[in-house]
Amino acid sequence: MTGTVRCILALGSNLGESRDTLSLAVADLVNSPRVRLRGISPIARTKPVGGPEQPDYLNMVIEIETDLGPYELLEHCQAVENKHQRVRTVRWGPRTLDVDIITYGDLVSDDEKLTLPHPRAAERAFVLQPWAWMDASATLSGRPVVELAAEAEDLSGLAPFEGV
Ligand code: ATP
Ligand code: CA
Ligand code: CA
Repeated sequence: MTGTVRCILALGSNLGESRDTLSLAVADLVNSPRVRLRGISPIARTKPVGGPEQPDYLNMVIEIETDLGPYELLEHCQAVENKHQRVRTVRWGPRTLDVDIITYGDLVSDDEKLTLPHPRAAERAFVLQPWAWMDASATLSGRPVVELAAEAEDLSGLAPFEGV
């Protein structure tokens, strides 16, 4: 691969066999000659933020290196969501799999179809804490992810996932 970019992807699931879905989704995301896995976080169990009453989530992040363009990467992530029977109903409702692009290199974009960095990531412990576990020196928009995680309101609803 030439001209590669490092990206952080966030995965979440709260329907079906979430633990298995996350493992399979990571495998699917990196099962492309154009994507390499560079880092993988532990899994967090988290209380849902926003949306209707729904089960707890399992959340994790991965770091990849890719030569896909940003919109190609978005399509790739959505294809993996679809493969795992992602159905879009209510906003922020329960789902088998959600894959968000948190960062795409240093790219900043305010396109509604692909906003980068992800516009709500800086206040979400369910993204920031797994990321900080994976990479204690990570920064987001110039701020240490460890600090952002400590300030996030939903941090109290997060715990390391103790299953296997
Ligand atoms: P949230 O964006 O608050 O995490 P969500 O993940 O539940 O909510 P979705 O229904 O999965 O929202 O996505 C809605 C749209 O968001 C997608 O169709 C996509 O075009 C757009 N989008 C904008 N920026 C991003 C991004 N950085 N990563 C993924 N999707 C994005
Ligand atoms: Ca999301
Ligand atoms: Ca999403």
